[in-house]
Amino acid sequence: TTFDQMNLKPEITRGVFGLGFEAPSAIQQRAIMPIVAGRDVLAQAQSGTGKTATFSISALQRIDEKEKKTQALIMAPTRELALQIQRVVVSLALHMDVTVHACIGGKSVGEDIEALKAGAQIVVGTPGRVFDMIERGYFKTKDVKMFIMDEADEMLSAGFKEQIYKVFQYLPETTQAVLLSATMPKDVLDVTTKFMRNPVRILV
Ligand code: AMP
Repeated sequence: TTFDQMNLKPEITRGVFGLGFEAPSAIQQRAIMPIVAGRDVLAQAQSGTGKTATFSISALQRIDEKEKKTQALIMAPTRELALQIQRVVVSLALHMDVTVHACIGGKSVGEDIEALKAGAQIVVGTPGRVFDMIERGYFKTKDVKMFIMDEADEMLSAGFKEQIYKVFQYLPETTQAVLLSATMPKDVLDVTTKFMRNPVRILV
């Protein structure tokens, strides 16, 4: 498959080519279509495979630009990774009208509150701050249709397990789950059996 054959919004394809991506990587070829179709996806993938663009392109395709509400939540184990992901999403969305907010520790809470109130359409965050914003009622989860966990193994082993489980509890039952992990230890498999429905499994 080529990017053109994926039937993405033309602005996304422009963003992809603008970044200099000519052909989709293996994970992009196998994961984007099922994610866009709404399937839960479990991908075992290392960094360097093109995994960030995989879920970023899919999230941009799935969200309704006209709805100024949080529709996709992307979680990462560290602030640095969350910021890196936010930058990728923003560059892919160069030709779109989408708001992408990084909800991470160490930044002012006021900024989070403002962005969330304005209905940041895609939120990329670390578990602690995201959970805090949900609990305090600023992060409205009602319209979240996509929950993406990047580096799930790192996140679960870093002591975020409880917060991740609690975040899941706040999400609508219908929220699609996409999980990426370099390894598949028991903690990750537990999440997949507890929170994912018949996931498409991809190993790259
Ligand atoms: P990641 O696996 O997300 O850490 O991405 C690894 C690197 O591959 C990043 O620098 C991306 O910009 C780059 N990349 C992702 N997808 C493609 C693609 N289809 N063609 C060329 N480079 C890509």
